[in-house]
Amino acid sequence: MKYIKGEANMRKKILLLIIVLVTIYLSSCSKLENLPYMNFGTEPYENVDYAMGTVISQRIYSNNAEEISKKVMDKIRQIEEDMTINKPGGEINRLNDSAGRDFVKLSEDTLYVLEKAKEFSKISNGAFDVTVGPIVKEWGVFTDNPSVPSMERLQDLLNLVNYEDIIIDKNMPGAKLQKNGQLVDLGGIAKGFAADEAIDIYKQHNVKSAFINIGGNIVLLGDKPDGSLWKVGVRNPRGPEGSYIGIISAKDKAIVSSGDYQRYFEKDGIRYHHIIDPRTGYPSDSGLIGTTIVSELSIDADALSTATFVLGLEKGMDLIEKIEGVEAIFITRDKKVYITGGLVNSFEFEDDSNEYEYVKKR
Ligand code: ADP
Ligand code: MG
Repeated sequence: MKYIKGEANMRKKILLLIIVLVTIYLSSCSKLENLPYMNFGTEPYENVDYAMGTVISQRIYSNNAEEISKKVMDKIRQIEEDMTINKPGGEINRLNDSAGRDFVKLSEDTLYVLEKAKEFSKISNGAFDVTVGPIVKEWGVFTDNPSVPSMERLQDLLNLVNYEDIIIDKNMPGAKLQKNGQLVDLGGIAKGFAADEAIDIYKQHNVKSAFINIGGNIVLLGDKPDGSLWKVGVRNPRGPEGSYIGIISAKDKAIVSSGDYQRYFEKDGIRYHHIIDPRTGYPSDSGLIGTTIVSELSIDADALSTATFVLGLEKGMDLIEKIEGVEAIFITRDKKVYITGGLVNSFEFEDDSNEYEYVKKR
């Protein structure tokens, strides 16, 4: 009996040892550590489409991913229809056509984006100004025939740029522009809103892991199915498409970039890009050539990437540091890369061109 009991004890000990060893092995192996994730993680579904004047890519880990991606595209097309000024029809065109005259009824979505746009215009002290439309239109950066307007013409049009002239009536619900000729342009914020709406649709369908990229407005839902963080490259503003100056590792974040490389034309050796300084009427010349904002909501990141691009390094840093939960990467014309303190652990400077200098938080 004793002998048998001893043998059983030995077996128990060996079994215990095996369990301990297997547990140690499993917890050292990051993929296996996250076994529960594998339940929903079928192969990713990828979709590339075009709307809002840009390429839209989605990656969704879920059943019914194709159907979900279509719902997202339907929603984005609806947002484009309501908010664009580059095609006829839509609510913002109606608002602009009625400038100086009538209030115009607006959908909940459009009013939300307009209110957000007004709010960011205010907190950026007008560096972001959603009524910059007449100037953007005059430059025609989006048309086949862009041209450099005369200074007098720009001065005239600058009289129309003032976000305080947007009068919002929440009860109607609707809005009015005070002066005849004023134009709201949601080009610097609507893509951010659309990306937030996409994430809402993913969540409604119980998707736990996905990302969407609307022309540089990236939103990450959850982490990757294997439990690792998403990696998002920060574009080298002077390098070819696909070249980066660093990588952000993140989950559940919006990452939005603005730059003078996205849309521009050149005349007499000068680059005229699509982000206007509402104080001068000319393309912003703040010393920044690329800004990237990391935040919870993409609508905020979109407005702030444009705003800080116009504000420049110092004022841009000041603004970002005032807003909780928002971080930024700024790239200057003299090829220095600055980040805010909150990104020290999630941003990795990686510059293949060897032209940039990494300056951590000022
Ligand atoms: P992109 O649309 O290329 O992603 P942005 O988010 O920076 O880039 O938005 C730029 C667009 O915003 C311009 O094309 C124009 O429609 C509009 N815009 C330009 N300058 C300003 C500004 N100072 N404030 C608000 N909107 C602007
Ligand atoms: Mg923007």
